Amino acid sequence: GIPHLYPAPHPVIAAAMAAGVPVDNDVGLFFRSLATPDWDSFDTAPRVVAVTGSNGKSTTSALIHHVLTRAGRASQLAGNIGRGVLDIDPPGDGGVVVLELSSYQTDLARALTPDIAVFTNLSPDHLDRHGGMGGYFAAKRRLFAEGGPDRAVIGVDEAEGRYLANQLAEGPADDRVIRISTGRLSGPGWLVQARKGFLTEWRKGRQVASIDLRPIAGLPGAHNHQNACAAFAATRALGLAPREIEAGFASFAGLPHRSQIVGDRNGVRFVNDSKATNVDAAAKALAAFAKIRWICGGLEKDGGLDGLGDGRANVVKAYVIGREAAAFALKLGDMPSEVCTTMETAVARAAAEAEPGETVLLAPAAASFDQYDNFEQRGDDFTARVRALLAGG
Ligand code: ADP
Repeated sequence: GIPHLYPAPHPVIAAAMAAGVPVDNDVGLFFRSLATPDWDSFDTAPRVVAVTGSNGKSTTSALIHHVLTRAGRASQLAGNIGRGVLDIDPPGDGGVVVLELSSYQTDLARALTPDIAVFTNLSPDHLDRHGGMGGYFAAKRRLFAEGGPDRAVIGVDEAEGRYLANQLAEGPADDRVIRISTGRLSGPGWLVQARKGFLTEWRKGRQVASIDLRPIAGLPGAHNHQNACAAFAATRALGLAPREIEAGFASFAGLPHRSQIVGDRNGVRFVNDSKATNVDAAAKALAAFAKIRWICGGLEKDGGLDGLGDGRANVVKAYVIGREAAAFALKLGDMPSEVCTTMETAVARAAAEAEPGETVLLAPAAASFDQYDNFEQRGDDFTARVRALLAGG
């Protein structure tokens, strides 16, 4: 977690550079040590799927792992989620390793050679660490560097994704690149898109598969439909049939703290999205539900609250937490809001005012460090208070 270049090299890194000592991380060591002589006797060499992007990495990685496991494929989940990359078991014949990689990890690793690389999306995050948006994109792009993956699954809803897809493909029909989108795509290439809750796969201009995502409880909202597209594309590239993938989606429980449904009371739903530590993630959560009692606030990230987008319109009222709750509430503009400061007050007030059909949503749009050790602790606090309420406490 120490800075390597921006805002300034950590003294350890500065000393390494001065001494000409290479700096690497576990991910680099993993890629360099993965292949072993017994692979020669395997029918199918193990494959590595690596997932990066600003949001949706954990969900997409966990979903790919779940779909593979459910389809009877040997899969291990590691990296920024689950186990450390050096703690996994050596993959056997046909085994798959699914890695979630953060920008810090891709920035540093001296070897990055996944078979399938996934780029979900890009929005500003960790900019101080990467010296701005260009450095942040550059860190993520390293996963697709020269001699790159056999298949690149790329979210093309932002300019950076379109740029990357264009750069990697020899032409529009080059199916080493699978473009994914929550908008409308067309062209002769390999495309996976989700619109109005329907996922469709297209090859050479023809639709070859479709899945109705609307009834899938573990994947609510357009942002999760983007994750579903990425997982669909990656597992298709590994040879799974659409029906196997659909069965995996249907049994996916979702991850804790990511649009996680905690429970219902009198027609009011309680959802924990504590992982929405930045504005873009919170905007997606707001867009995923209607009539929201929104618990938000904490340690603000760069960029203010301008990026909340259309989801703002779904908010009935905001209940603001955090040490700087009053200042945060001011930034919400004309949105009805109440300064609650603590989770205890916010949950109590939101639950007391919520009407049947509404959702009480924790999606802070801010980091948690002013009041908690991490987002998990914040989400656990919310969940415990909601459970007490549901139990009639
Ligand atoms: P990451 O591992 O990249 O942080 P997660 O799957 O843990 O991603 O989700 C982080 C946050 O972003 C959650 O609040 C979640 O609701 C939201 N989110 C998940 N997928 C997406 C997506 N595809 N686009 C935008 N936001 C997303």
